[in-house]
Amino acid sequence: MASNLLPTDVIKISATDHVPTPERQLTKVAKLIDVSKCIGCKACQSACIEWNDTHPTMEENVGIYENPHDLTPDMFTLMRFTEYQNPGTGELEWLIRKDGCMHCEEPGCLKSCPSPGAIVQYSNGIVDFISDNCIGCGYCVKGCPFNVPRIHKTTNVSKKCTLCSDRVAMGQGPACAKACPTQCISFGTKEDMKALAAERVEDLKERGYDNAGLYDPQGVGGTHVMYVLHHRDKPSLYAGLPDDPRISPTVALWKGSAKKLGLIAAGLATVGAVLHGIFAKPNAVTPHEEEEAQELVDDVDQGGDGYPHGHGHDHSHGHEQAHGKEQ
Ligand code: SF4
Ligand code: SF4
Ligand code: SF4
Repeated sequence: MASNLLPTDVIKISATDHVPTPERQLTKVAKLIDVSKCIGCKACQSACIEWNDTHPTMEENVGIYENPHDLTPDMFTLMRFTEYQNPGTGELEWLIRKDGCMHCEEPGCLKSCPSPGAIVQYSNGIVDFISDNCIGCGYCVKGCPFNVPRIHKTTNVSKKCTLCSDRVAMGQGPACAKACPTQCISFGTKEDMKALAAERVEDLKERGYDNAGLYDPQGVGGTHVMYVLHHRDKPSLYAGLPDDPRISPTVALWKGSAKKLGLIAAGLATVGAVLHGIFAKPNAVTPHEEEEAQELVDDVDQGGDGYPHGHGHDHSHGHEQAHGKEQ
């Protein structure tokens, strides 16, 4: 894949309305994770740690294979293991899923972030966190329908998988894909990954998995990390993968002046420079926007999930952990 990804390829910037139209549109990329090929060896976890030079704490063995027990600011991807007794066949299936950022086409994290330039999206679809601009308020955690970002306790910035944007910028694929011994993880153009997924789905169907399919949820505009699932009809079987992820309506309304109020509520004194020096214009705050901001701030303060009921996300490894698992 050709070298790409320059600062001028940014198409969306958190808390910034007017982003200049880039001169070029990069080809959309995607990482495809074929869970049916995964053997749970965690080579991808190790490669991620090594490439990103993070230092996750290995936690106590409590009789499950997941370690650490959740995503952390130092562990951007985590193998999750589920034992499933298939009622159709009576057989026990071991469903393994590589958890991490899905790089949503419509990223709820970016939409909810009140800090200009803390989250960006490139025209190839990659969603990146810019730590220098992050204020550690945790709104991205609330805005993510996949429960992915984690706030680092000491540096107070939000962390997640970058889709190895630094490697992609040099024409390389993600470290996790390179390390996978079964080629369960592939990386390329989104179109090519969809074609590869179609072949894999056909193969799984021939092997008796009638409901096999591609997970590229349209509720968030599709994703740049996709899964081939044997049970595409029941994504939540795979350690609570959301059946129909969507940006919460509360976050979708969270914009303009209301977001600026959130920034104030988070105790911001100054924010870092914005990419290309773009700042939102001063805003007049309406009473309605003030109410919206207060509702979201109250919800975060009270540890609520920030979502109305029935938004389709299984919180079994839930948002309460998002704050509880800080490092
Ligand atoms: S999965 Fe969550 S953190 Fe990743 S891009 Fe989507 S909303 Fe943002
Ligand atoms: S912690 Fe706050 S400032 Fe940092 S990325 Fe998340 S929402 Fe933006
Ligand atoms: S794409 Fe890079 S940052 Fe993301 S899980 Fe793989 S190795 Fe880690």
